[in-house]
Parts: sequence; structure tokens; C-alpha cells
Amino acid sequence: MTHEKGLKEKQEIALQRAEVLKEAIADYREALKTIPTGFNRWQQILEAQNRIKAFFKASDDDWNNWRWQLKNRVTTVDVLKQLLPLEKEEIDSIEKTGSQYRWAVSPYYLSLIDPDNPDDPVKKQCIPSIQEHLDHCGYDDPMGEEYTSPSPAITRRYADRLIVKVTNQCAMYCRHCQRRRAIGEKDLATPREHLEEALDYLRKNEEVRDVLLTGGDGFMIDNQTIAWLLDELDKIPHIEIKRFGSRTLVTMPQRIDDELCDIFSRHLPLYVNTHYNHPLEVTPRAQEACFKLSRAGVSIGNQTVLLKGVNNDPFIIRKLNQDLLQIMVRPYYIFHAKAVKGTSHFRTRVEEGIEIMEKLRGYTSGLAIPTYVVNAPQGLGKTPMLPEYLVSSGKDYIMIRTWENKVLRYENE
Ligand SMILES: *Cc1c(COP(=O)(O)O)cnc(C)c1O
Repeated sequence: MTHEKGLKEKQEIALQRAEVLKEAIADYREALKTIPTGFNRWQQILEAQNRIKAFFKASDDDWNNWRWQLKNRVTTVDVLKQLLPLEKEEIDSIEKTGSQYRWAVSPYYLSLIDPDNPDDPVKKQCIPSIQEHLDHCGYDDPMGEEYTSPSPAITRRYADRLIVKVTNQCAMYCRHCQRRRAIGEKDLATPREHLEEALDYLRKNEEVRDVLLTGGDGFMIDNQTIAWLLDELDKIPHIEIKRFGSRTLVTMPQRIDDELCDIFSRHLPLYVNTHYNHPLEVTPRAQEACFKLSRAGVSIGNQTVLLKGVNNDPFIIRKLNQDLLQIMVRPYYIFHAKAVKGTSHFRTRVEEGIEIMEKLRGYTSGLAIPTYVVNAPQGLGKTPMLPEYLVSSGKDYIMIRTWENKVLRYENE
């Protein structure tokens, strides 16, 4: 006969369990004290913005205008060294690497750099390093993208969805860019004929139900072209959803203007995937842009790239994903960095990514847990990498491992 525990006794057990649960995130809560974020550095960021505005003699209206941000991207050491303290050695390496790989930083993204931190994760993503120049490993096109392009602007690797590249331009050229080969030296919007050709391809291929407009950066084309593309896509009956890929929510949140939101609100269902890599990028200004998109009805997802020295740390990723939920961005993917020439110094081992996933599940909201994926070679698709929770199985049972590493028998009749 089972003895039914009294209410008091049950509550005592719950209280003890709560103590154990608190202990499970005590190390994380301690680590948070040392993780800088865009919210807790906002005052210093605003001061940096004032210095940059003064340098460019820019008004607040200029600063908040994405055309101004784009036009005044920093692309030379001469300008950079007036906005950021640089060692002689750094200047040399920026010049060396810059002669081989293009770089450009928006004034806004530049303002997120902490000049007192030599290992600043924002700086590593935007300022060229000598390691890019010295890297002779990796491939220009590890995904064999050119073999999966049935129409000039299209990349197709899946049955029911595909990518349309609308431009090669970005607001900023990420140092870890996986498409460096397509960036070139010139900003090129995809010619109208190629977009027309892509639309024709879509009209003829009825199994395609999901179209992803990207680049480059999908928001680097003007609002009129975006409105035209969405109008055309909405006329195709088998296209169920549209998506955009854009990093402007991180690097140039000024891009999310009223007109763009207005266009989007007339073309739902619409999804935007962006690319935050570190909590420092999640600022009040970024929040403003994301909330605006959300109010227009757009659902925002995040695709992080796992980068050595930037975010290859379980606590940084946990904090990033929790902060993203606060600005209405849902963590979607963590990508393992591919072997792209010039980016080897950012690569981690897959085991590190799996460890990061292990330290998310159970420790934080399911909403804060993306899927960790390796991109299979030859364009064979995103492939999930997961910690193992199914330990073994028998005829009528399985053995499961919980997030706390408890192994239990689970009936499976
Ligand atoms: C990533 C990708 C997609 C979208 O994949 P989802 O897993 O549906 O987000 C579509 N086409 C190509 C070529 C891709 O690389």
C-alpha cells in the first residue's frame, strides 16, 4: 500500500528540488557578471556614437537614416584610425588583409566596439585581421553553390524551397563571411532580367512553396524593388511563404524604416532571418527595429555562426539567445563555420557546438534553443548535430538521459 504524502511533506520536497534547480544555474548567473551586452554598455555606446557623429558632422536625422549609414561606411584605415585607437601593427594588418579582402563597417556597428577590449567580439567580426591574409586553408566555395543554381539568381538545394539572391551587397562585410567569393569589390544589385528569370522559374515549378530572398543582404535593395518582388510572389498561387535574410537588424537597424514595415504588413506571411552572434549586438536600438518589424506582423528568427573567440562559449550563447527573445527574435539555427578560405581562425570543432547545445536544453527556455547544424558538403543540406538523449533501447523500453544527466528507463510498448 502506498502511503499518500501530506501536503506539507510534498511542499518540503518541492522546496528541496528548487534548491537543486537554483544550483544548476548558479555558475551561469555568476558568469553573467562578466559578459558585456548591448543593453548594459548602452551609455558607452551612445558616447561612441556622439564622437562618430561629431567626426562626420552628422545630425541625428543623418544617423537615423540608413542611406546615410550606408554612404558613410568606414572602408579605409585613414578614417578608421580617427574613430578607433589602433596599434601600428594593427594598421599594417588591416592594410595587408584589406588589399585582398573587402571590408566596410557602418558607423552604427563601429559604435558597438569597446576600444578598451583587445578581444572585442564586435571588432573581430568587422575589422580585418592578419589571420585572414595568412590563411591558405579552406575553399572559396565549399558548398559548391555554383552547381546548385538552376537560374542565375537562384540557389536550390531542397525540394520545396529555394533562395533568390537579390544583391551581393551587405551593410557590413563580416570577417567570417561564408560567401566572400560572391562579395567581390563592387556592390551589385541582381539585374532586373535575372529577377524576372527567377520569378519565371518559380511560376513553372509548382512544388516550390517557400522563397527565401537574400544576397548579400536581402534588405540592401530599395523598398520599391522589395514591394515589386513581394507583389509578384503573392501572385504565384503555390508560393505559401516568403522569407528574407538580412543582417541589417544587427549592423544597420536604421534600415527598418516605416515604409519597409508598411510594405511587409501588406505581404504577410513573411519571415525574416537575421544574424546576431554576441549579446553585445543586442542593443536598445536593435530592439527598436525588431519591435517595429514585429508590429508589422513579421516573425524574426536568428542564425548564429559559431565563431572561435566570439561566441564559442555555452554561457555567451545562452545569454545571447535569452536577450534575443527579449527583442522578439527567436533563435533558429547555430551554424558550424564552414572551411571558407580566409576564415580558418574562426573555426571550432563540432564537439564544442554539441557542448553548447547540451548546456542549453533544460537550462533555459525551449524558445531560446536553436538547432545546431553542419552544412553538408556539395550543397547536400543542413544536417543537425545533437547531444544524445536516447541512451539505448530494448524490445519494450528505452533508456533516456535527462538534461541533468539522469539515466532512466522509459516504457515503450
Ligand atoms: C538554408 C537554406 C534554405 C532554408 O533552409 P531551412 O532549413 O528551411 O531554413 C533553403 N535553401 C538553401 C539553398 C539554403 O541554404
